[in-house]
Amino acid sequence: MPNVELPVEEHQRRVKAIKTPRTWRQIAVELGLSADGIQRWAYLNGIKRPKYKESREKEVVKLLKQGKEYQEIADSLKIPHSTVRSIARRNNLTGKPSVSPKEVEEMLRLRKNGCPLLQIAKKTGRSAQTVYKYLSKNDPNYRKRQQVNPWTQKEVDILVEKWKEGLLYKDISKFLPNRNPVAVRSKISYLGLSRYKTKFSGISSQKQREMALSDLCGGEIRCQAKKSWDCCNRQKDLRFLQIDHINGDGYKDNLKGEKRHKAIIEDPEKYRKIYQVLCANANNIKKAENKEHGRSR
Ligand SMILES: [Zn+2]
Repeated sequence: MPNVELPVEEHQRRVKAIKTPRTWRQIAVELGLSADGIQRWAYLNGIKRPKYKESREKEVVKLLKQGKEYQEIADSLKIPHSTVRSIARRNNLTGKPSVSPKEVEEMLRLRKNGCPLLQIAKKTGRSAQTVYKYLSKNDPNYRKRQQVNPWTQKEVDILVEKWKEGLLYKDISKFLPNRNPVAVRSKISYLGLSRYKTKFSGISSQKQREMALSDLCGGEIRCQAKKSWDCCNRQKDLRFLQIDHINGDGYKDNLKGEKRHKAIIEDPEKYRKIYQVLCANANNIKKAENKEHGRSR
């Protein structure tokens, strides 16, 4: 696609659209173009999009400080409620003061008079979730009324047994005629059972990759290619680095992605003999050289 010179107005319209912080997709929709197309056009014309995440966070913070509700902000910026909430938490703007004993009393009183949850929420200016939390904590009858079909000990025993066998929620529910998979799942989380808890839980996969690369490099992460390859200047940017099999025997090992990262973190000594960190250029040079020497897979 040649880079055609656009009429000035169209050019300005595009620049303005790109400079308004949001996703490429949203920009593309406004302009009636494909996301790829507009990105390419922006690149060719040297127009940079503002850093979306940062500017979005600023915008959210601004609105939070004006006292806007999470949902209101989420709707107006077309982002998920959960994003607004996590930004609020990150910036210590979770807003409303905690519920006072007096408020709890008021909630209980309304409840006693048969006021529905949503009404109580409206009257006290709290979310339904908050009201539920305090009612269930302070009114011993509240949860009972909710729980029409309490779990029996026998059911719990079956649940725990099947869970330990490694069955999925929906398969466990087949052994429990009165429970659907959703109920099974919430009971499992209520009981605090988990088979996936490992030392890696809570560490993002991106962070795991970083740890693995750092272990392979023995500290500072950078391209480990021989200087004579002239591939890069000790590339440090994680985006351009790859894990490479030193002996090119990648086909023999089935460690991939996250699994590979975890293995490296577990035993860096061992894997330093098998893997190295190369930039994409070095990887291509290596591949080309291997082909030249008639190496086949
Ligand atoms: Zn390199």
